[in-house]
Amino acid sequence: MTESAQHATILKVALDVPLDGVFDYRSDVPVQVGQRVVVPFGPRKQVGVVVDIADNSEIAPAKLKSILQHFDHEPVLDSEFFSLLKFCADYYQYPYGQALLSALPARLRQTEPAQARQQFCYWLNEAGQSADIEAIPARQMVQRRIFTALRERGRLSEAELSELSPSWRKGLLALREQGWIDEEQIYAGLSATLHASNVQPELNDEQAHAVQSILQQRERFKPWLLHGITGSGKTEVYIRLLQAVLEGNQDQALVLVPEINLTPQLEARFRTRLPQYPLVTLHSNLGESERLQNWRLAQTGVARIVIGTRLSVFTPLPRLKFMIVDEEHDTSYKQQDSMRYHARDVALVRAQRRNIPIVLGSATPALETWHNAQSGRYGLLSMQQRAVSQSQLPQVNCVDVSRVQMQEGLSPPLIKALKTRLQRGEQSLLFINRRGYAPVLLCNACHWIAPCMRCSSRLVVHLRQGFLRCHHCGHEQKIVRQCPSCGNADLHPTGHGTQRLEETLAKLLPEARILRVDRDSTRRKHALSEMLSAVHAGEVDILVGTQMLAKGHDFPNLTLVGVLDTDSALFSPDFRAAERLFAQLMQVAGRAGRADKPGEVLIQTTFPEHQLFNALRSQEYGTYAAGLLQEREIAQFPPYEFLALIKAEANEYGPVQRFLQFAADTTRAMATDALVYDPIRPQMERLKGMERGQLLFQATTRQALQIVLRQLTPQLRAHPLSNKIRWAVDVDPQEF
Ligand code: ADP
Ligand code: ZN
Ligand code: ZN
Repeated sequence: MTESAQHATILKVALDVPLDGVFDYRSDVPVQVGQRVVVPFGPRKQVGVVVDIADNSEIAPAKLKSILQHFDHEPVLDSEFFSLLKFCADYYQYPYGQALLSALPARLRQTEPAQARQQFCYWLNEAGQSADIEAIPARQMVQRRIFTALRERGRLSEAELSELSPSWRKGLLALREQGWIDEEQIYAGLSATLHASNVQPELNDEQAHAVQSILQQRERFKPWLLHGITGSGKTEVYIRLLQAVLEGNQDQALVLVPEINLTPQLEARFRTRLPQYPLVTLHSNLGESERLQNWRLAQTGVARIVIGTRLSVFTPLPRLKFMIVDEEHDTSYKQQDSMRYHARDVALVRAQRRNIPIVLGSATPALETWHNAQSGRYGLLSMQQRAVSQSQLPQVNCVDVSRVQMQEGLSPPLIKALKTRLQRGEQSLLFINRRGYAPVLLCNACHWIAPCMRCSSRLVVHLRQGFLRCHHCGHEQKIVRQCPSCGNADLHPTGHGTQRLEETLAKLLPEARILRVDRDSTRRKHALSEMLSAVHAGEVDILVGTQMLAKGHDFPNLTLVGVLDTDSALFSPDFRAAERLFAQLMQVAGRAGRADKPGEVLIQTTFPEHQLFNALRSQEYGTYAAGLLQEREIAQFPPYEFLALIKAEANEYGPVQRFLQFAADTTRAMATDALVYDPIRPQMERLKGMERGQLLFQATTRQALQIVLRQLTPQLRAHPLSNKIRWAVDVDPQEF
């Protein structure tokens, strides 16, 4: 050993590389565990995190490289962060270093020191408060929108303002020229609402019971399922719980939400009702600088409440004492690439390790969660009344589409109901189940349907733009006029996409103001929140949209929900399809009649007697779930058995098949209780020009699956085909 090697410290550094384990480097300066460092790795420089410090290394001292740089002015990562990501990397069979680095904000993965940009927030000063909106010309919609938002919500950050309109800066400038606006520099996320609300509604019995039960056991790990129908006041319960657990201490709470579209309303309510607690949000719509800033505020314990999407479950929170997972059944909690973790499940693990309570809220819990609540592993709190007494549950009715004359996909009862709403000045929502609803190009003579050349899927007609698009790979081509199969020159789009529906409605109800909300119309940043603002402002009569609209948006003037085509999901081979459809319909039904106006839900279907619709009518989640669980038990699906998938794809199927067969054979040679099937092709055999295959594992315990995967994954990584194909392990897959 050389002189200098003896005195240097050995750092165990986690790096963003697809290899197991951590890497040894030496440092002649003191470096702490949890610090970021820059190290040489192959020909490049890489950012890493020091996860441990040792006295010696298995690598010969002469070969040991030194770190290039360390960032000692930055707050260090705590050990909980490491151990949680280590657990997840092991459980989800993903390289630890990659798991760890990808849980950091992007700015911390760069080799530069990380700094956040300065931000401002704005509010109406006295002059602005006493101003009249009529002083703003009616055609200055952006100015009016900003004015109204500031008046209702108090202080708004730049991020919040940009959600109102992309041209908010111009609008705000105009208001400022009137002398109505004051401003202040802020820590990006912390802006609190100026107009705090101290209106505390009196809790009803169900709410009071829920709050009391949870608070009684707040000092230890305990998962709770808060099963409450839409409008039953779950958010109010969250607010009371946070008030109680954050009072008089420095503790922190983490609130997970499925998609960021949900956050503005929840966030605004939290900010007005909990103004004394610094609150930050964490989601992918934030700029990198703001995201880093918010993350730091969480990591250093300044932020007391963190509202975030999936990835924020890993945020370091030194004083975390309470967790909430809102809409816990939502599929967006599952990451679908890289490390395929489920944020709700990770949150449960985190709560257990920290020995703190966790509340899972939903109107339609995941069957796994429901099962745990029924078996007593989770506490079950039920709220079956709407919180606002005059707000009634919507009437749910089915229209048997096989018995009526349809007009371009719309039934006479639905058209009539739309007309009535229009006359009353109320809003309607037409809900389309995305799957099985897209219009395709069909040849009536030979039944040829325009296919995607790169995927096993059909191209979707986008009539207005005049092209066909694949919704799986994004491939686009012009609409062909002549059938390439039989020469028929009279090709027609069939099916009712959102665009065609919009056109049909415009024809049937020319006076209606129609707004289409789907993936196409909301592609632009902030497009969705602008649209939602327009709906709130009463600028829209009929909303046409996909499941994007089903989530917690609260439209008080919406009294009719029409559901257009659900039948394909009733009989889908995907084992979770029925559960999802039920959740979607419950949620979408919850949009109707939120305020004092009774709502109506009209479902068009060929199967009006299906048990799913009966359950929906009676709002009987429990009975319906019991039926589905029975089916799952017979089929040996979760939550009765545990599953894992190996997914693989390549330019041709041969190597995929050989790789998966190797995995299957290797597993069968192990002494294991887990079952492995034969490699198969998934429903979508080709995707983006890649031939796909998968291998299913099944076991009665998580443990048995873990044992198999832990032995298998390293062998797969070492396999000669491993680098020639793309493959991944998906533990607890959502679908297969
Ligand atoms: P959920 O989150 O379950 O959909 P919310 O918490 O949004 O329900 O409550 C629905 C509506 O009822 C909201 O407008 C809320 O302000 C109101 N609300 C909730 N609890 C009460 C209560 N105890 N008394 C009066 N209004 C309430
Ligand atoms: Zn395609
Ligand atoms: Zn043809």
